Formats: sequence, C-alpha cells, structure tokens
Amino acid sequence: MTPDRLRLAVPNKGRLLEPTLRLLRDAGLEFEDQSRALVSHAENVPLDILHVRTEDIVELVGDGVADLGITGTNLLAEADVQLPVRLELGYGRCRLEAAVPVDDEAVSFEQLAGRRLATSHPATTRRFFGERGIDVAIVPLSGSVEVAPRLGLAEGIVDLVSTGSTLIMNGLRSVGCLLESQAVLVGRPSAVARRDATVDEVVTVLGAVVAGRRRKYLMMNAPRRALSAIEAILPGLASPSVIPLAHDDMVAVHAVVEDADVWRMLPPLRAAGASGILVVPIEKLVP
Ligand code: AMP
Repeated sequence: MTPDRLRLAVPNKGRLLEPTLRLLRDAGLEFEDQSRALVSHAENVPLDILHVRTEDIVELVGDGVADLGITGTNLLAEADVQLPVRLELGYGRCRLEAAVPVDDEAVSFEQLAGRRLATSHPATTRRFFGERGIDVAIVPLSGSVEVAPRLGLAEGIVDLVSTGSTLIMNGLRSVGCLLESQAVLVGRPSAVARRDATVDEVVTVLGAVVAGRRRKYLMMNAPRRALSAIEAILPGLASPSVIPLAHDDMVAVHAVVEDADVWRMLPPLRAAGASGILVVPIEKLVP
C-alpha cells in the first residue's frame, strides 16, 4: 500500500461480497481475485482495495484508514461515526423491521411499549423508539435474533428482513419497518486533497454503472408518420434520437428508458407502428 493510492474498503465475506466485486469489475477495475487477501491493487487505476469485515468498514473510513467504503445503510445508521453517502448502489436491499410472535396482538410500534426487543441493531432501535417517545427495553444480541422470543429473552425483535421467510419460519410477524437499507458507497468527511480527483473518478464511474443497470437502450424502426405517437410513449432520459433510414419515410428511433418501464412500453410501441424493437443493456451511463 502506497500513500498516493486511494483506498477503498469492501466486504470480504457475506451477502455484500459477490455483488460488490461484480460492481467493481463492471466499473472496469482490473484487480486480481484476492478477496482472501487483505489488499488487492487495481492495475489500471491508482486504487487499492481493502478486503475487510463488513462490520468494520464504517470505522475504517471514519478513521481515515480507507478513503471510501462499501457498506449497508443499516450498518451506517448503527455506527457512531457519521459518514457522507456518496452513492446508493441498488443491491443488498433489506428492511430493518420490528416483529412479534404471530399470536401477539401488537400491530403498531406504539403497542410495543414496555416490551423487551432483541436486536443486533441496538443504537438504531433505541433512536427510533426514543424519537417517538415509545419506551422499550433493548436486548442486544449479535446473531440469531429471531429465536429470542421463543427462548423467553424478549417479547419482540428488530431484525433485517428481505423476503420475510425467516420471520415466517420462526413464527413471527412484522409490525413495521424502522429503516430501508441498501449497499452504499461512503466517503471520508474530508478526503485528502491530492486524492480528491481519484475519489471523484470512482464516484463517477461506479455511479455510471449503477445508473446503467437501471436503464435500457431501446432501438426500433418506424414509419415517420408514427413518430409523434412513439415519442409520446417514450419519456426517455432526453428526447429520442431519430435517424433517417434508406427506405422512404422510415426512421430509426433510439431512446434510453427506465428498465422498469420497458415491459409496459413494448405493446403500445408496436401498436403505434414500431417494428424490429431491440432492448439492449447499458454498461455505463453518465448523465
Ligand atoms: P453479512 O452479515 O456479512 O452477510 O452482511 C449483512 C449485510 O448485508 C447487512 O448488514 C445488510 O446491509 C445486507 N443485507 C441485505 N439483505 C439482508 C438480509 N436479508 N439479512 C441480513 N443482511 C442483509
């Protein structure tokens, strides 16, 4: 590790490991697959990747050991250090939820007053209920939170949920969501000046990958007279590109659209006269 290289801390195991390495590769960073080693060096950018425990990343960035880090919003909320979020990365999505046994009568946060809540997120839970004036007792646990009610340790839990199947398997039911979480890129509050340009580069390129993943490039041919109907269906990032074709009165229309809208757009585009419609992935998008 040399001092003039930027340091990015990433998870070395767990749920965020694979999607994080995929993001770095999709961004075009070339590095050896050394996720078992502590450090790997990017070959094409002055950047060292520190492979560390997910739970340690906020602290390492806060202490200045790393300039940037990838972690979950939930871990950021739980830490003492306040770090600026430079990018939301769109994976590792989960919710921090309060839950009680299925036969419990509580259906709101207020009805949890006076309960013991087991959680591996004590600071976030304390803050959430404190801000609402609801008095709960926190039972801090580092894992297996969902079994606490059955063991008689607590009357409810606050835990991370993505599909909800762990709650169901443990005879629990959600009462509400305290926090929505996803993977985020965090930075040091004040990055050393000489490294700022590289920090901005990393933010721009990772941001371009995340933005590209959410969108598709749509190409189609259409008779020129269908153009206004087609334009009305395509909101796009900006106005679509319209390119004349060799055959009379035919044009090619290209546009960038939200991935989530493609499904809804295809039938009306076809009905409006578009043909040869291609939906193409976008590797990177810099707005
Ligand atoms: P790990 O414990 O190392 O597998 O990573 C846990 C991190 O992954 C959490 O802190 C969250 O940011 C994220 N995550 C995403 N979905 C879930 C989930 N269903 N349960 C726990 N963590 C999740």
